Amino acid sequence: MSKKLLSIVVPVYNEQEVIEETFKRLSGVFENYFMDVEYIFINDGSKDNTYLKLREIALANSCVRVINFARNFGHQIAITAGMDYAKGDAVVIIDADLQDPPEVILQMVEQWEQGYEVVYGKRLQREGETFFKKFTAKMFYRFLDSMTDVKLPVDVGDFRLIDRKVCDAMKCLPERSRYVRGLVSWVGFKQTSVEYRREKRFAGETKYPLKKMLKLAGDGIFSFSYKPLKLATFAGMLVSIISFIYLIVVLIQRFVKNDIASGWASSMAVSLFFNGVMLIVIGIMGEYVGRIYEEVKARPLYIVGELLGFQDGAERKNDIK
Ligand code: UDP
Ligand code: MG
Repeated sequence: MSKKLLSIVVPVYNEQEVIEETFKRLSGVFENYFMDVEYIFINDGSKDNTYLKLREIALANSCVRVINFARNFGHQIAITAGMDYAKGDAVVIIDADLQDPPEVILQMVEQWEQGYEVVYGKRLQREGETFFKKFTAKMFYRFLDSMTDVKLPVDVGDFRLIDRKVCDAMKCLPERSRYVRGLVSWVGFKQTSVEYRREKRFAGETKYPLKKMLKLAGDGIFSFSYKPLKLATFAGMLVSIISFIYLIVVLIQRFVKNDIASGWASSMAVSLFFNGVMLIVIGIMGEYVGRIYEEVKARPLYIVGELLGFQDGAERKNDIK
């Protein structure tokens, strides 16, 4: 019987300081392993020397494949591309910065052999990250879980192992705004977790500035929940009730007390408040409309510039998925 294949998918964006070490650590863990291992690095439009380094690694190691994106498409899209190209019986997604220890994959594979089809890494502790990041992440996962109908495990990132069946199921989800960890929960299958400590970044800085974090959070919330729309309706109703009560107060002032001249401050307050509520509601609708527009355009999720190491080292260009 031939050995089973494990695909390790690594999204990479401006990681020239860490990428060699990452490959060294990974290949050290899987030396003489009972499975064959292929490494798929997705270069997500890096502006530094990451691609040159990946090229060197790919030329020296036949088990390394590189997908070079034509520009920066974002972490979640990079992971998606990795899963599209992975051939393995099991696929592992891991960050390039060694925050997720490669050794944990061994435990994941053990669980997979026990029959679990998704094994996600649950972060017990996070080292070397700012209080702000840890706090916002913690709040976000709990908030998202309360907003959605799909059960989304908390404190879980994209570091996980998925079975071939799950990977194939994921490929059938064509949506553009990708919150991969949510999609994996959505497809279901037998899931379990392994706990680990999230380490400090090996080198370099986070590639997730606040802007990207907010985008990820928006994708998570708006792709998995209609609750913001329901909240908007609820807010509208609540404000209508309050304003109806206030209308009665105004009428009493006018006809019973005959006191009509005062009230500039209160009418300003009411108008400002209403305009605020309305803009928020329109904004929420806009989020969904924008997402519908993205889906309808049906552009490819990503554009590949070069492929290295696929099909015994052949280089292919301009593969559009
Ligand atoms: N990454 C990517 N594209 C991006 C941003 C990040 O492929 O636009 C990769 C990055 O190289 C790393 C992983 O996604 O392998 C996670 O990013 P990072 O470690 O910066 O995020 P953090 O751990 O700080 O949340
Ligand atoms: Mg990181």
